[in-house]
Amino acid sequence: MDYVLFGIQGSGKGTQGKILAEKLHAAYFETGGELRRLAAENSPLGQKVKSIIDAGHLVPNEVVMEIVEDFIKRAGRTDTATPIIWDGIPRNKEQNASFTSLLQKFNRPYTGIYFELSREEAENRLLKRRICSKCKTVYPANYSKALACEKCGGKLATRADDNADSIRTRLDIFFKETLPIVESWRTADKIFTVNAAPPITEVTKELFSRLSV
Ligand SMILES: [Zn+2]
Repeated sequence: MDYVLFGIQGSGKGTQGKILAEKLHAAYFETGGELRRLAAENSPLGQKVKSIIDAGHLVPNEVVMEIVEDFIKRAGRTDTATPIIWDGIPRNKEQNASFTSLLQKFNRPYTGIYFELSREEAENRLLKRRICSKCKTVYPANYSKALACEKCGGKLATRADDNADSIRTRLDIFFKETLPIVESWRTADKIFTVNAAPPITEVTKELFSRLSV
């Protein structure tokens, strides 16, 4: 069974997704990370991705789907016994249609998980979180040792893109483009909701209990 993660920025879906991937020995697909990995790779697809990113363009949907297909086909993953956790896809209606047909094409059963967090709490978390200037580890709003990174000792700073306007724009896009997908999956009984407001360990506990893992 594949799991497709949905959640507003700040909901902690990436953190929970990685914990779940470890628990299930699943492969983990994160759109941004996959684009960066491919762009650094000397393959035809990697070079295509690199040229799009270097030109400053958004990666078009059909290329994103090539990336998804490439990911599924890589060693072992056409075996559906190895689950894939999908993070950051599908983001909009167009991606939803092509992404779900790809999963069907490869006979991959899937369930969505929606990490639900209020817009107010998301804004609050995003405005307060810090990032390490050296190793780029992100620290949540309630991280107490606010001065240095616990991994490398680097200085923690507010993320450059975490100013109020860009946060609002990103949240708007989620509500306008991604939330309708959550609603359509809910209607189709393809998704369940986890309350993302509690601390990380409690969210994990609820997630694992919902999945009986
Ligand atoms: Zn660091």
